[in-house]
Amino acid sequence: MYDVIVIGGGPGGYAAGIRASQLGARVALLEPTHIGGICVNRGCIPAKIWMQAARRKRMIERADVFGIKAKIETIDLQAIVDRRNGVPSDLQMGMAGLCKSYGIDVIAEQGILQNPREVKIEGKTLEAKKMIIATGCALQVPDIPGMGEAAMTMDDMLGMTQVPASLLIQGAEAMDVEMAVIMNTFGAKVYLATDGARILPREDGNTSQRITKALREQGIEVLPRLTLESMNKSKGGYEAVLSGRENKTLAVARVSTSTRRPNTDLGLDQAGVELDEDGFIAVNDHLETSAEGIYAIGDVTGGWMLSYAATSMGVTAAENAMGQTSAFNSNLVPGVFGPCRKRLRWEFRKKMPIKWTWMLRLAIVPWLLTVWPWLMMKWTGISR
Ligand SMILES: Cc1cc2nc3c(=O)[nH]c(=O)nc-3n(C[C@H](O)[C@H](O)[C@H](O)COP(=O)(O)OP(=O)(O)OC[C@H]3O[C@@H](n4cnc5c(N)ncnc54)[C@H](O)[C@@H]3O)c2cc1C
Repeated sequence: MYDVIVIGGGPGGYAAGIRASQLGARVALLEPTHIGGICVNRGCIPAKIWMQAARRKRMIERADVFGIKAKIETIDLQAIVDRRNGVPSDLQMGMAGLCKSYGIDVIAEQGILQNPREVKIEGKTLEAKKMIIATGCALQVPDIPGMGEAAMTMDDMLGMTQVPASLLIQGAEAMDVEMAVIMNTFGAKVYLATDGARILPREDGNTSQRITKALREQGIEVLPRLTLESMNKSKGGYEAVLSGRENKTLAVARVSTSTRRPNTDLGLDQAGVELDEDGFIAVNDHLETSAEGIYAIGDVTGGWMLSYAATSMGVTAAENAMGQTSAFNSNLVPGVFGPCRKRLRWEFRKKMPIKWTWMLRLAIVPWLLTVWPWLMMKWTGISR
């Protein structure tokens, strides 16, 4: 019998496994695909590779300000894709090695809970005193008429060797903004539409406003209060029909959305684990689910849906599984946001006590008052 079985090997599950092992547990980590989860294999890391490529392209384009006359001859998208594939596989090796050094049994199987103490994998059942669910989310194409054929998924974009002439991104989360910048930098005409009043709804209004301005300066059309209704095939691509503050049609080659659905198809009923009203696993501050001895962490619990939040939750859940009393403070999740190398944000997250918000406001420093923009040729960022 294991002390702890972790189901899912993303940034949450991986951290939970290591922390439990550090505290003396015998640990099994179930991961049917690649260790590192969405973050390493299909999300943060591949997106950052593309962002780095975009950044370098923009730096070369603006190098003349520093007296360097350079011209980009060709852009080899396949080389970027090779790097996008290579870095995750190096990271996977490192992560697998670290798990091994901690004595964690990494099992390449999908787990299905049978009850709070047993999980079924291909051909056998494993038993543990405590379970930690870290199954994350799956990206899905929403059920919008005409969407199927027109859709360019995140995977498509992160593996592209051809850039579409134009792209409508319906969504306003950080990853949508990041993809908008990447696609725009490599030559697509990008429309970024959101049903909300502004992009980046999880950030404060000021950050959202600054980034909207920067995106518009780059030529990205930011379209608030517009919802995609349908995609209709037209001569050169698609006609995207949007409604909201006005009725609008856009001629685009492809469309993308980043809808995420929690991976909850793992026998939760059989183990007595309940979901919240949005379909995520419900947890308290100690990351306990409704079933005694089962914890849940990361994207499958909703909330911030960020890697470092998942990792921090993993540590907390492992400590609690090993008899400690730790709480996850969702008010203290740091954030860095720099989709266009023009804006960087680093702050304690919102939903914090009012007095802290005041401290935060006092600490805002416009980059214009520092040496930074003069070096970087970027004028409108702030630090806080
Ligand atoms: C394009 C993109 C860019 C992103 N950029 C950032 C960023 O810059 N910064 C940031 O903080 N976050 C970013 N994110 C979000 C980040 O990837 C997630 O928040 C993070 O991966 C969540 O970690 P997790 O451990 O909860 O789940 P995941 O990383 O989703 O891992 C879950 C794992 O569980 C496995 N699994 C599922 N079901 C089972 C089962 N039944 N049995 C066993 N294993 C199972 C899956 O195979 C998967 O590997 C990005 C996401 C995307 C899509």
